[in-house]
Amino acid sequence: MTKDYYKILGITEFESQDAIKNAYRKLARRWHPDIAGNSADAVLKFKEINEAYEILSNKIKKEEYDRARRFYSYATSEKKDFKTESQKKEEKKGFSFNSFNWKKGPEKPLPKRGEDIYSDIELSVFEAVSGTTKTVNMLQTRVCPKCGGRKFINGSLCKDCHGKGEFTNYKKFTVKIPAGIKDKSKIRLAGEGGLGANGGLNGDLYIIVHIQEPKTYKAEGLNILKTIPITPYEAVLGADIKVSTIKGNVSVKINPNTQSGQKIRLAGCGIMQNNKVGDMIITVEIKIPQELTTEEINLYKKLAEVSKTNIRDNLYEN
Ligand SMILES: [Zn+2]
Repeated sequence: MTKDYYKILGITEFESQDAIKNAYRKLARRWHPDIAGNSADAVLKFKEINEAYEILSNKIKKEEYDRARRFYSYATSEKKDFKTESQKKEEKKGFSFNSFNWKKGPEKPLPKRGEDIYSDIELSVFEAVSGTTKTVNMLQTRVCPKCGGRKFINGSLCKDCHGKGEFTNYKKFTVKIPAGIKDKSKIRLAGEGGLGANGGLNGDLYIIVHIQEPKTYKAEGLNILKTIPITPYEAVLGADIKVSTIKGNVSVKINPNTQSGQKIRLAGCGIMQNNKVGDMIITVEIKIPQELTTEEINLYKKLAEVSKTNIRDNLYEN
């Protein structure tokens, strides 16, 4: 008998073996004669569930069944899903899965599944941790909707596709990136890959995630660690400096007499994830600008002359 084993188990064609097993166990418990009773309906249901599992849990049987199912679905209906009504009709005609031998059908070409297509996207650490939405623009070939892939309409070439039977266009995909996604993760967009042939399913589109190594900061949990240079005079006199954060530029006060290595915490300027937010922790580093003017150097000379403290005093051991 022709049956949609996936529908019987209440799953889709792309579930894992674990999911198939789980679905089967749940239903088998529910429809077991000890529980559901011995009515004809219940027994039939129990039989169907076991039959579905026997096919779908076996790799070779499943592959063969999937092929036949796709072909059958193509041959009997334009829609991908089995129709209960058409199923009944076919059953009345004596159509059966076993007698439907697609291997020996020379009049109809074999259905071919479309290719899987892979595309890369780059994410910042922020985006990967917090989750985001990205747009991907991909070329996609689909059957011409005007002629339905038949290339001709009433004996003349289809004007829309110029007799190609298909269209290739850019399609925009809005891809939701879940928070906490890992580098090299794949996001599957089912059926958005290459065009299937002869009624075969379309392939899938896979988006591969690449998380960029940050250049100016380090992420530590939800905290962002950043080293910020300040000049010697900023360290001495204090200053208001601008620091770029996830919230935009933030004004940070450098106190007078700030030492190199001093840390400043910017609360709530870290990474956001699941309603939690980290901090940005700045480490201040006193740096001399690469190029100094003569005037600046003269001022340093003056400073050297007037300076009375020896900063290394406490290093001498007596
Ligand atoms: Zn067309």
